[in-house]
Amino acid sequence: MTEIVREKPVKFSLPRRIKRLGELAYNLWWVWHPEVQRLFKEIDALLWEQTYHNPIVFLRDVDRARLNAATNDRYFLDKYDRILREFDRYMNEKDTWFNDQYPDLKDELMAYFSFEFGLHESLMVYAGGLGILSGDHLKESSDLGIPLVAVGFVYTYGYFSQRITEDGWQEAHNVPIDFDAMPLIRLLDENGEPIKIAIELPGRKVHARIYELDVGRVKLYLLHTNIPENDPNDRQLTDRLYISDLELRISQEILLGMGGVRALRALGYQPTAWHMNEGHSAFLTLERALEYVRKGMSFDEASAIIKKTNIFTTHTPVPAGNDEFPLWLIDKYFAQTWAELGLTRDEFIEMAKIKQSWGGDAFSMPILALKLSEFRNGVSELHGKVAREMWNFLWPEKEAEDVPIGHITNGIHTETWLARRIGILFSRYLGADWADHLDEAELWAQIENIPDDELWRVRRHLKRKLILNIIDRGREKWKSNQIHPVQTIASGVLMDPYALTIGFARRFATYKRANLIFRDYDRLLRIVTNARMPVQFIFAGKAHPADEPGKQMIQDVYRAVKDARFGGRLAFLEDYDMNIARYLVQGVDVWLNTPRRPREASGTSGMKAALNGVLNFSVLDGWWREGYNGRNGWAIGEDLDLEAEPEAQDEADARSFYDTLENEIVPLYYEQRSADNLPAEWIARIKENIRTLAGTFSMRRMVTEYMTRLYEPAIHNGIEERNGDEG
Ligand SMILES: *Cc1c(COP(=O)(O)O)cnc(C)c1O
Repeated sequence: MTEIVREKPVKFSLPRRIKRLGELAYNLWWVWHPEVQRLFKEIDALLWEQTYHNPIVFLRDVDRARLNAATNDRYFLDKYDRILREFDRYMNEKDTWFNDQYPDLKDELMAYFSFEFGLHESLMVYAGGLGILSGDHLKESSDLGIPLVAVGFVYTYGYFSQRITEDGWQEAHNVPIDFDAMPLIRLLDENGEPIKIAIELPGRKVHARIYELDVGRVKLYLLHTNIPENDPNDRQLTDRLYISDLELRISQEILLGMGGVRALRALGYQPTAWHMNEGHSAFLTLERALEYVRKGMSFDEASAIIKKTNIFTTHTPVPAGNDEFPLWLIDKYFAQTWAELGLTRDEFIEMAKIKQSWGGDAFSMPILALKLSEFRNGVSELHGKVAREMWNFLWPEKEAEDVPIGHITNGIHTETWLARRIGILFSRYLGADWADHLDEAELWAQIENIPDDELWRVRRHLKRKLILNIIDRGREKWKSNQIHPVQTIASGVLMDPYALTIGFARRFATYKRANLIFRDYDRLLRIVTNARMPVQFIFAGKAHPADEPGKQMIQDVYRAVKDARFGGRLAFLEDYDMNIARYLVQGVDVWLNTPRRPREASGTSGMKAALNGVLNFSVLDGWWREGYNGRNGWAIGEDLDLEAEPEAQDEADARSFYDTLENEIVPLYYEQRSADNLPAEWIARIKENIRTLAGTFSMRRMVTEYMTRLYEPAIHNGIEERNGDEG
């Protein structure tokens, strides 16, 4: 094992008294500790905004005089000292949930693979929900003390920056990631050379460098191929997320799966069990099998062993979301591998074969993962059921309900998504240590302790903050002199901080039906422009650059947003990301989701909203089908027929949407006011919503479930295998 040198590319020149700010900048722990963000903000609030909340750029660029002033500010120094004590305590804590629950497993290790990680807006290596889930999973694993290392990519370009043209067409701009501006730690060997791994692709070797990202106590390793050792084609391998070119894509997935295993080995890790978050990393099964075959085992023996320690989570019932490769690519890229595994071509392809609608065959990543994992799950109750039906053909002897795919419903990392001010209410009324109990029902029962007026004051504050941020962004765009005036209106500068505000933000995939609310345009117009009880809608979201129908859907929405008859009460926010998501899920009154059932495997943005006292108004799909209880938000449509014709479903859901909005939601918000002008019923719903949803759909609940139901048994299998090996 070589000695690994960890090198941070930026050396800050900070006053000695506060020099550990540099350390905080290189561990993403600060992302879910708002008090650290406040510390940066106190040094220079404007620069903190201008650097897009990136502490590395911030500390690099901040005026020395401001740093010196901070070192003379007793209150600042008190806070600084308190935060560093807390950071040290966190990093060295022995008394974690994991150590308490699993003292025997403290030397074991979980490996977690994902294509994308959504950790913070300044780290553009995520596209949407899947990435946010991976990022939240790492943060919670760190909080719980789960021994886990993760593997992914750092891309040359961030997931694109979105601009909307005057006629509503999405333009995708590539933004190169400035590696030195990221908290990426370089890993060097004892000679000061970057640590690299290589994979064999047809006729060549592709090298990848490994960067480390510290997420609290968890380490995330990111592979990157844009390095001089590679030829120009291979340097593009990690250019960007969700490349459509199939040959680049398969190479990318070989790099993640097979290269990822090699990367962990190169760094000296021997994980006991392996978690594939979605099928992109399924080639890791082949690399793991090869490790045993190279020691002299047959493929059958090897696959029986690795299966017991593989975990696969499937995330989508939408066919386009499930990676498949044409067989000619498999021939080109895997002839060597199947020979080495001792398999024939047919045997190899048979492992992951899927019939295409045109009659031919393809190689399916989820099938590979399903077949070579003993632990398999979907991400909500309904999605589990749909997945069992969808993959029933792999277990033809079984009834659908007996197909061995379970479910663990997604969750969100509470402290990442919680508004600071709501957090203060929790601390005051649920107890200063509320975060230690956040998956316990008794904690949330105390939500009643929060006085209505205090809760409402914070809700109003958060909405004002959102609207002011929208207006600021609109003003900046307007000043840039590059947009048509009507686009300034469309960006939300006419928004009213006191009107009932509904948010809709997520990827623009067509099944999410962002345009559903425009089906009866005139009825929507009447509801929105009601002079006594106005309603406003804020949209945001990107379509995949190759998804033409998705882009058309943005255009449909944008056309309505620009329609003067709506009076500027509709807005479309460009460039949806984690920062905008935070403003929205904390600031709006109602969170809308209108997927076509059962395509929304889980959805998580509604959970973020619920945590902050924003009421969900959604189709009973994914998580909301489990979360809705009749009193904690509203349902669109009913929990009935999954087989309904899309057109009939759209019509029924749209009607349900208008009726509920007009007859229940709007009056509840505006009319049912108590003597002190508080919407008492609305506030009661907010409390019911937090009480029933905040803990249940937390990442704490989710990760502890992964731990007890999947990780622990897989780890035990791994220990058994290892002991058998020694014996
Ligand atoms: C939470 C989140 C998502 C996922 O939202 P869904 O409702 O699950 O589709 C996507 N993008 C960003 C930026 C998010 O924060």
